[in-house]
This record gives sequence, structure tokens and C-alpha cells, in this order.
Amino acid sequence: MIDVKTKLVGLLGYPLGHSLSPLMQNKAFKLTGLNCLYLPIEAENKDYSELLSGMKKMNFIGFNVTIPGKIDIIQHLDAIHPLAEKIGSVNTVQIENGRMTGYNTDGEGFVSSLTSETRCVISESSFMVLGAGGACRAIAMTLAEREAKKIVIANRTFIKAKALCDEINGCIRDCCIPLALSTEVLAQYMPYINVLINTTNIGLFPNVDNTPIDHKLLRKDLLVADIIYNPIRTRMLIEAEEIGCVTLSGIGMFVNQGVEAFKIWTGIDPPVREMREIVEQFLLNKQ
Ligand code: NAP
Repeated sequence: MIDVKTKLVGLLGYPLGHSLSPLMQNKAFKLTGLNCLYLPIEAENKDYSELLSGMKKMNFIGFNVTIPGKIDIIQHLDAIHPLAEKIGSVNTVQIENGRMTGYNTDGEGFVSSLTSETRCVISESSFMVLGAGGACRAIAMTLAEREAKKIVIANRTFIKAKALCDEINGCIRDCCIPLALSTEVLAQYMPYINVLINTTNIGLFPNVDNTPIDHKLLRKDLLVADIIYNPIRTRMLIEAEEIGCVTLSGIGMFVNQGVEAFKIWTGIDPPVREMREIVEQFLLNKQ
């Protein structure tokens, strides 16, 4: 029941019609019996100052930020977690005593999905990440912090991969190699990696027949992950399964970034299985 004691958690971004976070977080609040409400607030960047001072005066304990505000929000915060500062974007904010602290739970969400759903040990693995956008930044920075052996970043726009690798090699550890996203170039590096991660938009609904990598480059002992979760199984994952690879869908990352955010706001562990079930059910019904 909503009353004067109800704590609020927002989702800031634009547009928000597609977001599954309200469904997932409100389910978690309900199951944990917390008097909290997760509220989507469609807002473009220019609205942030007024919006945030309003939130500080209300019962907000925090919020998520999504496109287009993940970078611009930083200037409004009182503090930022060191990893979020390195990543250069924030997706989760905690409000405590009128102070706003920013975090980025995307990389952690991916890593906890990877380590809980597969037998992958980060420090014993070499990664190839396709793409060099916002999600790749969070994942590659987190993998570098977790002592990944090697991270090869292959992107359509090579200079973006190069800039990201230079940054990670400089501010975390010297472990990244930039590549162009072409079959010939990838073929040379595939023998040296054991985990492949797609962070590009290739294969995302409605372009479900597209794949970022020629299936002939895959081999049975590769772990193949896609951070896309619509569709749940992308063409890349279906082809990898046919070859016999262990695969990981983007649902786990989505759920776990929400789990980490929930812990930041409330200090308690949410019901991960039920959060995943409600997201999976929604996507399956849609498909
Ligand atoms: P972004 O910052 O816009 O980056 C997109 C990346 O994809 C860039 O590296 C871009 O290459 C590449 N790309 C896009 N279209 C391409 C094409 N036709 N051919 C080759 N490369 C292409 O986006 P993002 O925020 O990183 O998100 C990327 C994907 O991850 C989206 O599909 C999103 O749904 C998914 N995602 C999932 C989660 C989760 O929780 N599971 C979280 C965040 C994002 P260029 O640099 O050359 O443009």
C-alpha cells in the first residue's frame, strides 16, 4: 500500500516506454515487503537540475539513469564511485541525507551473470568484446579491474576501440588490444581468446537475422555471450549453441545490474530468481 512512508526510486531517461526495470524492481519491492515504489520519469537532460532538487525534497532514496542522461548526470552528483568515474557514466544513484552518489552497475551486472551462470573465471580468461560503445566501456573496465588476462576490443569504428583500449591500459592495467571489426582481423585473434562477448546492436530486435560474427570463426570450447536480451537468443547465440558452445544471454546482465542497484538503494539482497522470471516471462510473451 502506498502511504506517506513509501520510499521512491526513479528511472530517469527518454524515452522509457520500452524499459523493463519498473516491472522487475516493483516485483522485487513487493516480494521483499519493502514499502518502496519504482517510478519511471521521462526526462530529457535539460530537465535534470530542477528534477533532482525536487527529488531531494521528496521521499526518493535513489534512481536509475538511462539514455540519454548517463554521462550528463555526473555533473549534478555529490560523489561518484571510482569505477563509475573510470567508466565515465552512471546508471544508479543513491540519495542519502540529501547527498547523491553515482554508481555504474552495468559491468558488475555482466560479470556476476557470467560468473554465476557459467564456470568462467575472469582472471584465467581472455576476452574478445565486439563493439566499443557505452555498454562495452562498462564491461571492459570491469573485466580489466577483475584481472582479465587479455581483452581484445573489436569495433566498426576502429578509433573508438583504440581510444577505449588506451584509456583502460592507462588507468587500470595494460591488458587491452584494439581491432577493426572485420572477419579477416577477428580470425587472427580467435585462437587466443576463450570468451566472446557481443556488445554491438547487431542482432537486436527487429534485425534478428543479423549477426556480428561469421559462425565459421566460432569453436566448441568458446564461451559466447550476447548482452542483447531482445530477442533472448540472438542469431549469434543460436549458431554458437549449434556448434556446442556454452552461451550466455543478455537477460542475466540486465537482471544483475538491477540487483546491484537494488542493493545500493536498500542495503538488502533482492530475490534474483523471481526478478529474472518476470523479465523472461514478459519477453517470451512479447516474442
Ligand atoms: P552504443 O553506445 O550506441 O554502442 C553501440 C555499439 O554497437 C558501437 O560500438 C557501434 O559501433 C556498434 N554498432 C552498432 N551498429 C552496428 C553495425 N551495424 N555494425 C557494426 N557495429 C555496430 O550502445 P550501448 O549502450 O553500448 O548498447 C549496445 C547494445 O547492448 C544494445 O543492443 C543494448 O540493447 C545492449 N545493452 C544491454 C544491456 C543489458 O543489460 N543486457 C545493457 C546495456 C546495453 P560504432 O562505434 O562503429 O558506431
